[in-house]
Amino acid sequence: MNYYIKNATLVNEGETFVGNVLIEDGKIARIDRDGAALRQAQGPYTQVIDAQGKYLIPGVIDEHVHFREPGMTHKADIYTESRAAVAGGVTSFMDMPNTVPQTTTQDLLQQKFDLAAEKSLANYSFYLGATNDNLEEVKKTDPKRVCGIKLFMGSSTGNMLVDKNEALVRLFRESPCLIAAHCEDEQTIHENTVCSKDLAAKGQVELDASIHPFIRTMEACYRSSSKAVDMAEKFGARLHVLHISTKAELALFRNDIPLKEKRITAETCPHYLWFDNRDYETKSFAIKCNPAIKSHRDKEALRQALCNGLIDTIGTDHAPHLLEEKMTDDYFTSKSGFPSIQHSLDVMVNVTDDLPLLVRLMCHNPAILYQIDRRGFIREGYYADLALVDMKANHMISNKTEYSKCGWTPYDGLQTHCAVTHTFVNGNLVFENGVFHEENKGERLLFNR
Ligand SMILES: [Zn+2]
Repeated sequence: MNYYIKNATLVNEGETFVGNVLIEDGKIARIDRDGAALRQAQGPYTQVIDAQGKYLIPGVIDEHVHFREPGMTHKADIYTESRAAVAGGVTSFMDMPNTVPQTTTQDLLQQKFDLAAEKSLANYSFYLGATNDNLEEVKKTDPKRVCGIKLFMGSSTGNMLVDKNEALVRLFRESPCLIAAHCEDEQTIHENTVCSKDLAAKGQVELDASIHPFIRTMEACYRSSSKAVDMAEKFGARLHVLHISTKAELALFRNDIPLKEKRITAETCPHYLWFDNRDYETKSFAIKCNPAIKSHRDKEALRQALCNGLIDTIGTDHAPHLLEEKMTDDYFTSKSGFPSIQHSLDVMVNVTDDLPLLVRLMCHNPAILYQIDRRGFIREGYYADLALVDMKANHMISNKTEYSKCGWTPYDGLQTHCAVTHTFVNGNLVFENGVFHEENKGERLLFNR
């Protein structure tokens, strides 16, 4: 099936204009402002979609997700989470290696690609995980076919910590592709944990959710991020620092050169831009995540950094857990992370109404940063990965309409005016007004490196 999307307001590469897009054989065949493409399109196999009043954007590329397969499929799997993705206008994702088993060999990596080829509704790539002793596997990674290497410089869910200095040096020196790093200093977190337990025993603090940014502190983030940036500069690595959560860390990045030329880049996530530490009171462990959601001051600085170019991309860190795994009575047993891929765009529209900015941070920039082959832009000849967005919707985010397998969202009850009505993946209409068309699966992302 080919499609002709007419009367849409295209938001692409800083321009916003009313136009029409012809999709043929999975690609964007023609973009026009005057209907010329329609004459080309007329035929029995072209479905016309009138997008009057709606915005057409490149599909969102989520560079940071945890789809939990294999090994933790009671809470999420590639099929269910890719459904949640396309329902939110996300057409490509890159999944992290802290599954069971951990994705730390080329064989295990290939098994994930095979699973996704069968099950994923969106396009996909998978990170190989670095460990203290798998450099030989890291070096076999094909940068044209794999998004990157994930480095945990600080433990989190899955505990794949690289803490031996020699292993870090060799990784930063010899990695054949981009290193995406989770940076939190283990020693700092450990000391804060001991101190908090001590104070709690004396009855001076309560170990509820609000203690989280006092254990996983700004200092823990900065110490680890600055070390990663120092090492990347020293050893010439291509480093992408994930989920920046503090104002202090922004000083580690630059905005005086174009993204294409940067060797060190930064991501933040919607929850650091929407929530702050005041929300622990009402949301409690539901918004416990690593790094912790920090202060109002941090949130404001991160919002500014979206505009001034210190932050390059928005990834969700979509990390589903069952609600009962989160809402325990005990800080130390409550799991960190929550689902978010379905609502990255609508939550970000609440953060800023600047749709061209969001398209840059969520669609264009991930494509540029990872050098993804022909995606992330509305351009003739590119894959038809597209989302139609209604910006005048009356849309209440609710657990009842959560497609992630865990069945809840920390944004439950949030009112937005943004709703994704249509999502195209490789020219296939996979999501249409709440209905999924699942015959066609997503494709493996390729990289022009
Ligand atoms: Zn993550």
